[in-house]
Amino acid sequence: MPKQIVAGNWKMNKSLADAIELAESIANGLTELEHYADSIILAPPYHALAAVSSICEDHSILKTGAQNCHQLDSGAYTGEISSTMITSCGAEFVILGHSERRQHFNESDELLTEKVNAALKAGLNIIFCCGESLETREKNLHKTFVTDQLKKSLFHLSKEDFSKIVIAYEPIWAIGTGVTASPEQAQEMHNEIRSFLRTEYSAEIANDISILYGGSCNPKNAAELFALPDVNGGLIGGASLKSEDFLSIIASFSS
Ligand code: PEP
Repeated sequence: MPKQIVAGNWKMNKSLADAIELAESIANGLTELEHYADSIILAPPYHALAAVSSICEDHSILKTGAQNCHQLDSGAYTGEISSTMITSCGAEFVILGHSERRQHFNESDELLTEKVNAALKAGLNIIFCCGESLETREKNLHKTFVTDQLKKSLFHLSKEDFSKIVIAYEPIWAIGTGVTASPEQAQEMHNEIRSFLRTEYSAEIANDISILYGGSCNPKNAAELFALPDVNGGLIGGASLKSEDFLSIIASFSS
């Protein structure tokens, strides 16, 4: 059975003090919510990773994640962070393949394969993002585009390693735009991803993998999206920056 997961991608937001305040506010708000999602992942920027991890330590369903990692373990790469540095901060997850990294930092499928390998080697779980542009969707190429992204960066993995992957389907046209994929569009693509994994990789992995939806998910639309048969939660950007909104999203699972 896929786990129900909600992850908050804080992107390049929050000072250290503000990040601590947000994490504490989420942690304090969880008391009555713990039965809703199986895992809640907070992904602050690096400067707050250790502090947020130590707040999460006291709550079994709260985990932390980084938003990126370098493909190598150490070296002369000014400004970069490695997977082992991330685990040393207490984080258990890393987000890889986010469209902002693919677009602004030219991260290719090949580079992401290396990052995936480095993260798994360090013992991290991965939230692996995929998703098409509006142009690709309008050409009706979105299904092939997304399944290709997965094939290119993940299909070399053993089943054991693949079980540490959570997929986030994030249509680029829905990220930070206020435009959400309709329930039909989300379910269609999530089902496509699961079916593709079933036929091209492994039925066992397809049945158990969590596939999150990302793209302008908010307290108003989360319940409808999370109720879809192949949607197992969400990767949340903007709405993860306010604890009330994030807590409300976490409480949006129907069972
Ligand atoms: C994201 O960037 O992962 C995301 C889903 O952003 P937003 O929720 O703001 O659209």
